[in-house]
Amino acid sequence: MKSHGYAAHDAKSALVPFDFERREPGPKDVVVGIDFCGICHSDIHQVRNEWDNAIYPMVPGHEIVGHVTAVGAEVTKFKVGDLAGVGVMVDSCRVCENCKAEAQPYCEKGMVGTYNAKTYDGELTFGGYSNNIVCDEKYTHTISPKLDLAAVAPLLCAGITTYSPLKHWKVGPSSKVGVVGLGGLGHMALKFAHSFGAHVVQFTTSAGKAEDAKRLGADEVVVTKDANAMQAHARSLDFIIDCVSAPHDMNAYLALLRLNGTLCLVGLPEVPLEIAAFSMVADRRSLSGSMIGGMEETQEMLDYCAEKGIVSDIELTTVDKLPEAYERVVKGDVKYRFVIDLKSL
Ligand code: NAP
Ligand code: ZN
Ligand code: ZN
Repeated sequence: MKSHGYAAHDAKSALVPFDFERREPGPKDVVVGIDFCGICHSDIHQVRNEWDNAIYPMVPGHEIVGHVTAVGAEVTKFKVGDLAGVGVMVDSCRVCENCKAEAQPYCEKGMVGTYNAKTYDGELTFGGYSNNIVCDEKYTHTISPKLDLAAVAPLLCAGITTYSPLKHWKVGPSSKVGVVGLGGLGHMALKFAHSFGAHVVQFTTSAGKAEDAKRLGADEVVVTKDANAMQAHARSLDFIIDCVSAPHDMNAYLALLRLNGTLCLVGLPEVPLEIAAFSMVADRRSLSGSMIGGMEETQEMLDYCAEKGIVSDIELTTVDKLPEAYERVVKGDVKYRFVIDLKSL
């Protein structure tokens, strides 16, 4: 199937228009005409080869929403015209213990990423900075027409990546939760933790985001260069979700956990982070990580958002402005997720 999008051809140059082929839809496949695609910081890490795993040409984009334009003969979940979403993965082995437990991101054979990855047949995958995508219905999500479609796009990665660990660690009304970094992931973590009834402390390096953090649901905001404000939260938090994209001092946040508290990393800085043993041993703390979420849980999250009216705060952009959007994401200057309007293709 003919497709058209924007691709990176190396780590240094701007993305450029790119024509490519996708597989012809099979019996269980859905073809989605893409309306909007979010810009995740993972797109930038991979386009710039910061994780040392880039395969070019690379069409990024894994926060995909649009309308179904065709369905295979055996598809039951969708019909032509329905809204649909595709997130960070498009396949997994389906038979390993983790896949059977609906924990597909942790597939033992390795999940198939939506872009910068190869299918089990060795075909390169291409993401959502493009006009269409072909995806098995199991890895395609239904979307409620109640929500603003452009603002739903970031739920497919930023949404599920923060919803899943908050659920796994049972964040609720009795929890005191820290969110580190108010970017795409961070602002969704804040909205979800607030919505689950937790007392939320937002940590930010950007003093200018403090007012927004309150509006988005923070009970307290700490501008992290204020050492006294940091100290005021020492040994007090049950759970911290760390959404920071760049190296930072983990020990400063571990010190804020109370007895048996957990810090969960979802941010993926490109270099190893240093942990002092005393940061862990004191107060019997745990350090963990989490990757997106399973297919059932992603649908649960989308349905929860439809019920509660939760979407991402977005700035719409166009394909010709990608370099500017990337620069602003890297500077932490986006409120709070760029979404590409694919009409601009
Ligand atoms: P983003 O929108 O750029 O947000 C990152 C935030 O981190 C910034 O807004 C900023 O918040 C803070 N920050 C940036 N540089 C910093 C520095 N040097 N020191 C301290 N804080 C800094 O990025 P995102 O799209 O939310 O993604 C965040 C990270 O999660 C990325 O590394 C991405 O690859 C990763 N990710 C992981 C998964 C997963 O499955 N685990 C899924 C998606 C993304 P303030 O201005 O508030 O300080
Ligand atoms: Zn992402
Ligand atoms: Zn598997």
